[in-house]
Amino acid sequence: MTIQIKPLPSLTDNYIWLLIDTDSSTAIIIDPGTAISCEKFFEQQGISPVAMLITHRHWDHVDGIEQLQQKYDIPVFGPATEFIPCLTTPLNSNDSASVPELDLDFQIMDLSGHTAGHIGYLLDDKLFCGDTLFSAGCGRLFDGTAEQFHASLQRIKQLPTDTTIYCAHEYTLDNLRFAQAVEPDNEAVQSRIEEVKTLREKNLPSLPFMLKDELQYNPFLRTDKENVMQAVAHYSGVAIDNSEECFRYLRLWKDGF
Ligand SMILES: [Zn+2]
Repeated sequence: MTIQIKPLPSLTDNYIWLLIDTDSSTAIIIDPGTAISCEKFFEQQGISPVAMLITHRHWDHVDGIEQLQQKYDIPVFGPATEFIPCLTTPLNSNDSASVPELDLDFQIMDLSGHTAGHIGYLLDDKLFCGDTLFSAGCGRLFDGTAEQFHASLQRIKQLPTDTTIYCAHEYTLDNLRFAQAVEPDNEAVQSRIEEVKTLREKNLPSLPFMLKDELQYNPFLRTDKENVMQAVAHYSGVAIDNSEECFRYLRLWKDGF
């Protein structure tokens, strides 16, 4: 079986990720913020969706669910602790989510922080992380805490470094401007900027990304580095001596950037 992973652009800067089994022409939809772009794609390609996987409750991830559910009548997987429309399979961390039509088993990761119940879907060396980790950045804090968010990022850092990460927004260039302000001497930031500019000029997504690359330039994965702690302390005027405090004030810095 060949699984193809495709980003469908949605709204202003979201991606809906589709996992497509090209042999059986079936697909899994991740975070349908809109229905119409999915419906059009499935009709053009002759593909039948078989499940929706939802990372968290925000409208730009769930607003397409109801219309897709009415049309295709397929199960909706999502976090047990958040309100997700049409939810059929509530999930908690360490559960697994099976989609037999594509013969796939996802492992559920607690990625709380952006929202208090945010989950991620891990499929072997691929992580679908919603609004938790972005390339060169991370999601904002809504109803989760900085402590939860920091712990979620540490769980991601513990994955094998050749994990490929699929996030839900094209925010990369903006995030890199901030990464550059935090670490002006980091050459990995500069080369990622050049790489992403080239992709975006061709209207190509800057996603997915590899964990091992991200560890070199994403300041939110580098809150344990001495130079990042110093930059955050300098900006915030607060003495920073650990990764979690560094994350807390780095996030506040980015909010006002
Ligand atoms: Zn969100």
